[in-house]
Amino acid sequence: MNLSKLTLRDFRNYVNLELDFAPGVNLIVGDNAQGKTNLLEAIGYLGSGKSFRAQKTAEMVRFGAEFAEIEGEIQAQERLQSIRWVLFPGARRRMLQRNGVKKSTAADIAGVLPSVLFCPEDLMVLKAGSAQRRRLGDYALCQLRPKYDAALTEYNRILDQKSCILKEHLDNPAVLEILPEYNTRLCQVGAQIISYRARFYDSLGKAAAAYHGQFSGGAEEFSLQYKTVSTVTDPFAPLDVLRSQMEAHLQSHAKAELSAMQCLTGPHKDDFDVTLNGISLKSYGSQGQTRTAAISLKLAQRELMGREWGEEPVLLLDDVLSELDAKRQDFVLNQIDRGQVFITCCEPERFTKLGKNIEIQSGNVKV
Ligand code: ATP
Ligand code: MG
Repeated sequence: MNLSKLTLRDFRNYVNLELDFAPGVNLIVGDNAQGKTNLLEAIGYLGSGKSFRAQKTAEMVRFGAEFAEIEGEIQAQERLQSIRWVLFPGARRRMLQRNGVKKSTAADIAGVLPSVLFCPEDLMVLKAGSAQRRRLGDYALCQLRPKYDAALTEYNRILDQKSCILKEHLDNPAVLEILPEYNTRLCQVGAQIISYRARFYDSLGKAAAAYHGQFSGGAEEFSLQYKTVSTVTDPFAPLDVLRSQMEAHLQSHAKAELSAMQCLTGPHKDDFDVTLNGISLKSYGSQGQTRTAAISLKLAQRELMGREWGEEPVLLLDDVLSELDAKRQDFVLNQIDRGQVFITCCEPERFTKLGKNIEIQSGNVKV
């Protein structure tokens, strides 16, 4: 798939922008704080309905504006399609159109413009806290499986409500009456989450192992282990088995949850670890190994999406190339001869020949 045209109105620091893109590499250059990352955010949001940086939709609406618009023309599934989002700063629900027809959720545009984002923070994701790894996995899996996205939203909703019960129970013990109901739902939906993640991390790990092996000349064997609730013996087990194993963990932590007034058990604490030749990267990996493994994970994510839809997803490289040494830059650059790629950087010298150059200055294209 490729994005041929993008229109932004009152999105972040863009008042009004119309841009045509090349089907291959698009190099977005400009000084700091001119709007390069904002542009990648808009492209990512256009296809997924999710921002990789905003906590709230309102942040994406230009300060003081009534609403923001992101509109794109995309060559995908052998035809020209359009997606349009309207985002509001207040409580009003966002609006989505596909080919001029109103749609209710991002699931209705799945596969039209999937994207993989790669930014400098991702380079050290395997050394970071588990929340960062979960975010990386979820951002990919939500695009791949819209039903997972719905299950995750539901899970987080139940989790929020359960957290309120645990926080309130000392002041208002009556709330404990509804706790078992929430625990049951949490295990039901949690089992689905674990099942989706088990399959996703298995494929992701295998694809990443191939890239990492390629880079290390076969010297390092990459392996990814998905870690979930400790009572789950096999995350590929049928849903009812996962559910009862989650329930067992919940029961053994019921008292602890009440005294901590927090949800201590469930897949919201999941993580994954990478080992190289059997040695944990998080604990022992060098900087270089950690970066190569992260690149492998990103390329693997792109490959899984490509396999799913039969077309390369868009690759968004935010300031990441300049963070890499020459060998790793080449490793990435050798992979971008396929599909559409957006690269942001401040000092373009080395990259200007890669494709179309777009210079951004204070939310405008410099001509
Ligand atoms: P860098 O090279 O430092 O990464 P950048 O070109 O990627 O810079 P962006 O992160 O895209 O810069 O942000 C550019 C500017 O957008 C920031 O100065 C920020 O204040 C502004 N900005 C962010 N959100 C909004 C908003 N809702 N309304 C108006 N301006 C905003
Ligand atoms: Mg930036």
